[in-house]
Amino acid sequence: MSDNFDIRGRQNRNSDKEFENALRPLSFDDFSGQEKIVSNLNIFVQAARMRGESLDHVLLHGPPGLGKTTLSNIIANELGVGFKVTSGPVLDKPGDLAGILTSLEPNDVLFIDEIHRLSPIVEEYLYSAMEDYRIDILIDKGPSARSIQIDLNPFTLIGATTRSGLLTAPLRARFGINMHLEYYDSKTLAGIIRRSADILGVTYDNDSAYEIARRSRGTPRIANALLRRVRDFAQVMGNGHIDVGIARTALEALNIDKYGLDEIDNKILCVIIDKFKGGPVGIGTIATALSEDAGTIEEVYEPYLIKEGFIKRTPRGREVTELAYEHLGRSKFNAGGGQGTLF
Ligand code: ADP
Repeated sequence: MSDNFDIRGRQNRNSDKEFENALRPLSFDDFSGQEKIVSNLNIFVQAARMRGESLDHVLLHGPPGLGKTTLSNIIANELGVGFKVTSGPVLDKPGDLAGILTSLEPNDVLFIDEIHRLSPIVEEYLYSAMEDYRIDILIDKGPSARSIQIDLNPFTLIGATTRSGLLTAPLRARFGINMHLEYYDSKTLAGIIRRSADILGVTYDNDSAYEIARRSRGTPRIANALLRRVRDFAQVMGNGHIDVGIARTALEALNIDKYGLDEIDNKILCVIIDKFKGGPVGIGTIATALSEDAGTIEEVYEPYLIKEGFIKRTPRGREVTELAYEHLGRSKFNAGGGQGTLF
């Protein structure tokens, strides 16, 4: 991977954010893939609208870039209500949460990204807000401190998390609707890339959309980020039109792996092969060898590696498959043996 290209398209630059917002689907009809989730949500939204009530609280979990924020935005649009966005690490004091909750209009949607990172004290405030639409706030300090109860408008909390395993049981139990987003197949991603290219006014050959889709790690955010880079190559090296040749040249120049695996994916495979003879090995041991968090490997990286057939889970731990050896250009018989050659 090149030094300055962040394949995960993390939302750390303003221009990235603007770009993402421009491409964000605004209705269920525009949102591709995740069919089961979308059709169920559509029913729940329509039912809430018919009753004139707020939608039940929704928990969306799954790896980054699969559309949790986008779906939340769509839910608010389809409900015809306001949408407020915040995130777990930003809400560090109960007062911050109280400020947002008291500003909500009836049936509005409050989206809390990275909800697993809420501080315990803020989380506790959220319980009564979610359950009874009421919060107790403490005013004044010292001997004159007293708590007052504030009634809130009914609202829908949508929590998003990449690490549902870190959510406390009481918080999880307060979500009536709980959904897991899955990685997208290449066909769906190619459709998303075509839609984005149309919005950006870029012309393309169909095969080039597939070429980008296959290397997008099952993730729309990565697909859109790669499209943006390929568009640059098409503009400078050609006449702006994206054909398969340009797409391949660009993806190769960016060091994008043929399967769309990123640096950490490849490190996980290498460590299992080089240090643990291909496995089986426990997730905790892999995490220690990589100085990564075991939960992140289990919830963010491993599902894609399993889905694509690079790793399998066995009762004794994780094992790499033939495909992993092939992909890394290793042979099963002379790889590894505890030398840890790669690190
Ligand atoms: P998350 O919140 O899960 O990290 P986002 O909702 O921010 O992911 O999605 C990242 C980007 O991918 C957005 O720019 C969005 O437009 C695009 N995207 C995600 N899911 C879809 C989809 N199903 N169809 C079209 N575009 C999508």
